[in-house]
Amino acid sequence: MKGFLVFFLLIAALTAYMWRDTFDPETVRGARVLVTGASSGIGEQMAYHYAKFGAQIVITARREDSLKKVVEKCLKLGAKKAMYVTGDMSNHADPERVFKYAVEKLGGLDFLVLNHIGNTDVGIWNRDADHVRSLMQVNFVSYLQMTAAALPVLETSGGSIIVVSSMASKLPSPYVAPYTSTKFAVNGFYGSLQGELAVKKSKVSVTIMILGLIDTESAMNKIKGFTTMPASPATEAALNIIKAGATRQKEAYYPGFHYFICLINSIFPFMKDILLSGLSLEN
Ligand code: NAP
Repeated sequence: MKGFLVFFLLIAALTAYMWRDTFDPETVRGARVLVTGASSGIGEQMAYHYAKFGAQIVITARREDSLKKVVEKCLKLGAKKAMYVTGDMSNHADPERVFKYAVEKLGGLDFLVLNHIGNTDVGIWNRDADHVRSLMQVNFVSYLQMTAAALPVLETSGGSIIVVSSMASKLPSPYVAPYTSTKFAVNGFYGSLQGELAVKKSKVSVTIMILGLIDTESAMNKIKGFTTMPASPATEAALNIIKAGATRQKEAYYPGFHYFICLINSIFPFMKDILLSGLSLEN
C-alpha cells in the first residue's frame, strides 16, 4: 500500500513537472506567423491570441469577407501586422501560392500553423472513396505542400510547424471515418518528420496538437444527435496550441486529460468501447 502511494505521488509530481507552464509571451511577440483555416473556429481564435501577443500574422482560408473581419480585429487587438490571402486548399497550386505570399509579406516565417480542414459529413460511411481522396488533399496533402515550401525558410529562422490534429487520430471512432483517416495520415507523417529533423539536427520544431471536442460552430452543428460529450472552449484550445508550438513540444493535448485517455486506451484497448458508448445513431 505504501509502495503504491509513493508510486502514485511520483507519477503526480512527474505529470505536474511535465505540464508546468513554461510559455514566455516574448517568444511570439513580433513573430512572423501564418495561420491556415483562420476565417472561423479555432484558427480565428489563434489569430486573435497571436494578435494580442503582438505577432505579425498572415491568415488564410476561402471566405474573403470573414478573413477581412478577422484581420481588422487582429489589428485592433495589437497585431504588429495582420494580412490575409484567400486560398482553396483543394486546389493543387494554392498551398504554395499562399505560403509564398506570407513569406514575401512578412520577410520570412517563424510559425507555420496548419489548421484548416475540409467539409465532411458526420455519419455512417457512405462508401464514397472519391470524397476521402479529395478530403485527403485538403486535410493532409496541402499540409505537406506547405511544409515542403516552409522547411528551408523555417530552417533559416529556427522556426516551428504546428499541426492541429484530433483525438480522432488516436481513437478511431464511428461516424467520422474520412476525417479520421486524414488525421491519422497527419500524425503519421509529422511524427516521422520529427524523427528525420532530429537526425538532421535541424533547427525546425514540429508540434502535433491533439484536440478533444471543441465548441466551434461547425463542430457543434455536425455532432448534433451523435454525442452529448461536453465540448471545450475554442479560445482556450487556440491558446494551448500557441503555447505548445512556442515551447516546441512534440505532442500536446487539450484538454490535458485526453493524454491519459490515450494512455489508458493503449493499456486497456477494450476501454474504447466504454468511452464511445456516449455515441448514438439518432440521425
Ligand atoms: P472550422 O471552424 O470548420 O474551420 C475550418 C477552417 O478551414 C475555416 O477557416 C475554413 O474557412 C477553412 N477551410 C475549409 N475548407 C477549406 C479549403 N478547401 N481551403 C482552405 N481553407 C478551408 O474548424 P475547427 O473546428 O476550428 O477546427 C480547426 C482544427 O481543429 C482542424 O484541424 C480540426 O481537425 C481540429 N479539431 C477540431 C475539433 C473540434 O471539435 N472543433 C476537435 C479536434 C480537432 P473557409 O470556409 O473560409 O475556407
